[in-house]
Amino acid sequence: MDATAIDTTTQRLDALIEDKRDRFIDYANQVWEYAETRFEEGRSASTLSEALEAEGFQVERGIAGIDTAFVASYGSGKPVIALLGEYDALAGLSQRGEASDAEPLIPGGNGHGCGHNLLGVAALAAAVGVRDYLEEWRAQQGLSGTIRFYGCPGEEGGSGKTFMVREGVFDDVDAALTWHPQAFNAIFSTPTLANIQAYFRFKGTSAHAANSPHLGRSALDAVELMNVGANYLREHVVPDARFHYSITRTGGASPNVVQAEAEALYLMRARRMNDVQAIFERIQKIAEGAALMTGTEVEMVFDKACSGYRPNRTLESVMQAQFEAFGPPRHDAEEKAYAERIKATVSEDDLRTTYANIVSAGGEAAEAYVDGLADKALVEDLAPYSASEALMYGSTDVGDVSWVVPTAQCYVNCFALGTPLHTWQVVAQGRSSLGHKGMLQAAKVMAGTAVALLENPATLAQAREELDAATRREPYRCPIPADVTPSPLKG
Ligand SMILES: [Zn+2]
Ligand SMILES: [Zn+2]
Repeated sequence: MDATAIDTTTQRLDALIEDKRDRFIDYANQVWEYAETRFEEGRSASTLSEALEAEGFQVERGIAGIDTAFVASYGSGKPVIALLGEYDALAGLSQRGEASDAEPLIPGGNGHGCGHNLLGVAALAAAVGVRDYLEEWRAQQGLSGTIRFYGCPGEEGGSGKTFMVREGVFDDVDAALTWHPQAFNAIFSTPTLANIQAYFRFKGTSAHAANSPHLGRSALDAVELMNVGANYLREHVVPDARFHYSITRTGGASPNVVQAEAEALYLMRARRMNDVQAIFERIQKIAEGAALMTGTEVEMVFDKACSGYRPNRTLESVMQAQFEAFGPPRHDAEEKAYAERIKATVSEDDLRTTYANIVSAGGEAAEAYVDGLADKALVEDLAPYSASEALMYGSTDVGDVSWVVPTAQCYVNCFALGTPLHTWQVVAQGRSSLGHKGMLQAAKVMAGTAVALLENPATLAQAREELDAATRREPYRCPIPADVTPSPLKG
């Protein structure tokens, strides 16, 4: 027996992924630099899809009718394991990499403030690692199946995966795995909020605001009255609900003109989609009321929606065991010093939010765990796991995948303790060795989970049964109507 044959799966996958670390880091840095926002991730999608092609994957581009969505496959037949990768950036978060103070690279430019440059490449590296492992071991172990990387665009405010689920691209998948960069290590074990986003466009009549105000019908008045009505609605919704709005068109900068056109964008959320839909109906009535009061007309334009995340406890326990086997990322003195500098820029409130996120995922045992973190700038251990039903107050389009395919995800530490998502600190660290180390470790945990599932069809059957039992009680319906198409970010 040669030396490789006695390596454990964990050691072998670790070595296979480490062998290609430089190229994975290079892809992550490229995507970081492109910093493309939702549904416009052309260069990022090309980098990743071409990399997978070069690794022997078969690539199909433009899936689900979305230019920047793609699937890369290796192997054949069942089971089919999916690795989900995101690569969209956020507007206005341009920031110099590896810096420890806010310093835009391009004033007003985009930045990877949610770490999706790391997210996408870790899923890619996991797929490549599993492929390399199967190439070596297929003959000995008789392992078969398909490993797929799904290039999932438009997560930030776009619900790209929800459109992909609607178009059926995950229908034959047996398990889906993904992760998110964070300031700690844990299983993503919590449900998230379902949401619906819609525009309300008001149309009135312009007039000279002093000379003939009685002839004007103000669309801006309608937006303001709608927002007042919505704010009164807050008392009469389920406790987990949240809704927020932005005024996306004000009608212009001139106060001496009655504004004939104005628009608000509403984002409505709750744990259950039924509750979101009920709030959405009431918000539509409020908009009609505002139009009646102001003598304007209103048009509702459905933008996007996503379902709440449904954790799969069977898959989570497999992923937890793999996370324990590979361990969290470890850091050297230089990385710890950088984390100290970043931690100095985050507030006490940010730290408390990080702790609250750890506790909501890890349950009671995590309360003692976070008490021990106070003096640290970097977390180097795995937070306690619990099959938590506590809500994570946010949304992800992984939610819709989790309703049609058993899904598991983890958080892997890429940032100094307390780093909040959607900030310059994430952009800076996402281009540093902190981010890169977290990314590679996430790749290993996902690759280990994928191999464990390929080896254990019974676990996959159990995970499917867990999902089926839940959806028999509460069937899935895609929350995005058939005629709605993905929308890029508006300037
Ligand atoms: Zn985000
Ligand atoms: Zn994100």
